Amino acid sequence: MPECPTRNETDSPMRLLLVEDNEELAALIAQQFASTSFALDHAGTAAEALAVIETRDYALVILDLGLPDGCGLDILHRLRTGRRSLPVLVLTARSDVSDRVLGLDLGADDYMVKPFAFPELKARITALLRRPGALLGQMLELANVQLDTTSREVSVHGQALRVPQRETQLLEILLRRAERVVPKSLVEDQLFGLEDDLGSNAVEVYVHRLRKRLEQHEAGVAIHTIRGVGYLMSAGAGAA
Ligand code: CA
Repeated sequence: MPECPTRNETDSPMRLLLVEDNEELAALIAQQFASTSFALDHAGTAAEALAVIETRDYALVILDLGLPDGCGLDILHRLRTGRRSLPVLVLTARSDVSDRVLGLDLGADDYMVKPFAFPELKARITALLRRPGALLGQMLELANVQLDTTSREVSVHGQALRVPQRETQLLEILLRRAERVVPKSLVEDQLFGLEDDLGSNAVEVYVHRLRKRLEQHEAGVAIHTIRGVGYLMSAGAGAA
């Protein structure tokens, strides 16, 4: 498997969910996102959206209001009354002000009226993700390893480390569940998303690379392989 290119622009492999029933528009947006450092999943119905939100950690949701099986505002309402606090950017074809106000009242973080220019959508998303207090704005730490989930900076012993994008993402997945077993399927989902065509050992390749990198820099953490189950990151050097 080829080395993933690192992107200098943001080096930020954040996963977004686009909820949009207009396939043409969804494909267009996906195409635009392909050249950015964001990973984008797509749901075409409210039911599909609610199902994937339950199973994946998204950094932000782009939400169309007019969906075939319900209004996007219902999704927003359910997100806001539940435990989830992820940022939501509402897309609406209606220029009706009351809809927009309703969206903001229910806890949408921003909205855009269709049609919109992609650079503006991207700029607004970036702004939402950088906002202080956003879901991702936190430092993850285990032993002498630190990951700033906003700047994507990894450091060991206070020394900044150059880590490629996907390895940083893998580190984040494992750090968020430190000292717990993380199922391989979850790592796979979060690392590669819904659409990518994967080799069967894709996860192993990245685990191997990250493990080696951490060892080389004398990180005080180890990635253990739990055969047939997944991985576990624990404090203490030496990998299993
Ligand atoms: Ca729609």
